[in-house]
Amino acid sequence: MHQIDLLLGKLTLERKVRLLTGADEWSTHADPDIGLRSMVLSDGPSGIRGVTWDERDPAVNLPSATALAATWDVSTAYAYGAVLAAEARRKGAHVVLGPTINLHRSPLGGRHFEAFSEDPLLTADLAAAYVRGVQCGGVAATPKHYVGNDFETERFTANVSVSERALRELYLAAFEKAVVESRAWAVMSAYNAVNGATMTENPLLAEPLCGEWGFDGVVVSDWWAARTTVPAALARQDLVMPGPDGPWGEALVAAVRDGRVPESAVDEKVLRLLRLAARVGALDDCAPAPATATAGDTAGAATTATTAGDTGAASAEEGAVLARRVAADGMVLVRNDGELPWAAPGPRSVAVIGHNALQIRTQGGGSATVTPPYVVSPLDGLRAALPDAEITWTLGAITQAGIAPLPIARLTDPVSGEPGVRARFLDDCGRELLSENRRSSDLARLGGSRPAGTASVEVSTRYQVREPGTVRLGVAGAGRATLTVGGARVLERELVHEGEVFGGGLVSPPHASVPVELTAGEVELTARLDGVPQGDGLTLTLGEDPAAEETDAIEAAVAAARRAEVAVIVVGTSPEIEREAADRATLALPGAQDALVRAVAAANPRTVVVVNAGAPVLMPWRDEVAAVLLGWFGGQEFGAALADVLLGTAEPGGRLPTTWPAAEADVPVLATAPVDGVVAYDEGIHVGYRAWLRAGTEPAYPFGHGLGYTSWELTGLTATPDEVRVTVLNTGERAGKQVVQVYLSRESSAVDRPERWLAGYAVVRAGAGRAERVTIPLARRAFQHWDQGWKTEPGEFTVHAGFSVTDLPFATRISAP
Ligand code: BGC
Repeated sequence: MHQIDLLLGKLTLERKVRLLTGADEWSTHADPDIGLRSMVLSDGPSGIRGVTWDERDPAVNLPSATALAATWDVSTAYAYGAVLAAEARRKGAHVVLGPTINLHRSPLGGRHFEAFSEDPLLTADLAAAYVRGVQCGGVAATPKHYVGNDFETERFTANVSVSERALRELYLAAFEKAVVESRAWAVMSAYNAVNGATMTENPLLAEPLCGEWGFDGVVVSDWWAARTTVPAALARQDLVMPGPDGPWGEALVAAVRDGRVPESAVDEKVLRLLRLAARVGALDDCAPAPATATAGDTAGAATTATTAGDTGAASAEEGAVLARRVAADGMVLVRNDGELPWAAPGPRSVAVIGHNALQIRTQGGGSATVTPPYVVSPLDGLRAALPDAEITWTLGAITQAGIAPLPIARLTDPVSGEPGVRARFLDDCGRELLSENRRSSDLARLGGSRPAGTASVEVSTRYQVREPGTVRLGVAGAGRATLTVGGARVLERELVHEGEVFGGGLVSPPHASVPVELTAGEVELTARLDGVPQGDGLTLTLGEDPAAEETDAIEAAVAAARRAEVAVIVVGTSPEIEREAADRATLALPGAQDALVRAVAAANPRTVVVVNAGAPVLMPWRDEVAAVLLGWFGGQEFGAALADVLLGTAEPGGRLPTTWPAAEADVPVLATAPVDGVVAYDEGIHVGYRAWLRAGTEPAYPFGHGLGYTSWELTGLTATPDEVRVTVLNTGERAGKQVVQVYLSRESSAVDRPERWLAGYAVVRAGAGRAERVTIPLARRAFQHWDQGWKTEPGEFTVHAGFSVTDLPFATRISAP
């Protein structure tokens, strides 16, 4: 008998059931008698937050998943996973809650920055590589959210109605690859229901996940997704998170005792949990599992895993290097009117414009958020890269309403004299429970460190005034807010958050601000919230409200652009509109950003626009500017990577992982809101570019599109049912990267099919004038459709090769395999 079976035999029913619900928000129960230690689970997916949201315990903030997807590079996804594993080990986490592999079904999905693509093959390849990267570092990956969580509206209750074929060919495909090929050790079940059954009770957990695909890991519920005792226990749901309360516990013991749940179901769940513990090194006398699948690993990838897994301490440095590389390699140049790259030594003067140019949003909001050790803004990046140039910054337009934290360099803790603020936690009698120095005036999600019984939280600091004059100071967070400036109370307001805590309360909290006259020197500021919400919906920010600076901001930006050789505008979405727990109401950029771009472009023909959004936005001005770069949420090194790309030190290596529409009315699959509780995936398999092709409408930029800094030619295409070979020639004057894409189509078919679909691709890097002969394998699955099983229609398929879904100059025919 295997060791974990023996351990199971030592446990009473109560002890077994106890293991199946979390011990707290982020960890599982230990059982020292059997040598089982607690396991820590951490979000993910683009950094490892650990168990607290605390700026004193920062985490590498890698570029968002859409940036990674835009690289189209599985070896990069592997390296990304390896850095996450090293970070997880450094932070004592055993399980990474990622990758997020739901599909970009509608561009309105609020959380797409966290997921990869609208295409199932690209998503699946990246997911499988990410999982391998994490698990080769001895840490479990958790592909999520299984399945159908492709939108956020009413996410706890919405029921997705979807055909079996669309499930198999699209929504399950990435889970399948992550489980079958990369042997994921955990999977997260989603909040929503699919075809009538909520996912923590859904038969899809049994089949295909566990039966057909052979998943032997742990199904972790999304946080609070498990809602029942018996149906969830009878389903292949293993671990209820978070704990310690939940629908199982004593209720499940009783259900087993009275025969409603067989004890064998509990035993199987415990065995899987013990297996996970053994794999991640949380079970005594059990060697951690060796690295998983090797299929597709490159020698380079294997080296990364060893290094990352063994030297957690190096992860911060490796992470920063990778962050910069992925940010540049995932940046998509969708338009370039000869402007980029800037010729050496670069422009003599640059007008840097935009809220995001100074306060860059480096990641999407919600559970994916981590506290980076530092952030290189576009302004920082350009100033460092062009030390002799005259570089100005103007606001132009606000991206993000709300309170921006004050820069740490200007803050002194009035109690200890250290940098930062003094944070005090008080009970409802005003007694101090905890007083500590914090290194930020933005105390996000204080659930972890707040003492029990906290009724008030207060932040005070001595602020070195940035510029004498009127500024708008304010407080963000839920509760009765007060703001005191130099001992005088200037603001008192009840702030109430709306909607889900994650959404309304934490990511984009309510706020209030007042104009305050500041003189040069230091001023004492105190922000306080009384009657704060219980649970973890507590966040407090003291800072400036940029709304005050918006008056005449466009004119100021235009004047700056007119004076400069080039203008770089950074526009983007905000945490209110692009985040977990809500979908977007519109694809338009918030505020006056469109007007800003138009005005600046009219003033300076050398205007480069950088779009900082996790998913598509509308760019009605796109043909009026010299260049457009999509930067996604580019992680902590974003500004450095942007400077690399503008100056041509790095190529913008990205290709679109998702179609970018020109107008909302053109989007073939748009609605995300449930109707009577149901989100009907009536379009079946026609999602993303497949739907655009069927509708015959042109988007602003098609799937797969992206310009580099050199030019390419394809020659010598040959194809068999197993592979496509093609010669890729760099016809330009500098080295570059290209993504050769292969699509299949089928002229006369008895089956409903997309006009064409991605079947394979290869990342090619070649020097000027150099040619590479590449082989792109075609998987059997690329030819198959689901009809109560995988079927291959006999006859001929056409193979197309090129550089985007609509730029496919080569075609040849092959027979079905
Ligand atoms: C999210 C998950 C996340 C979990 C823990 C949920 O609200 O949907 O993706 O891992 O919270 O933070």
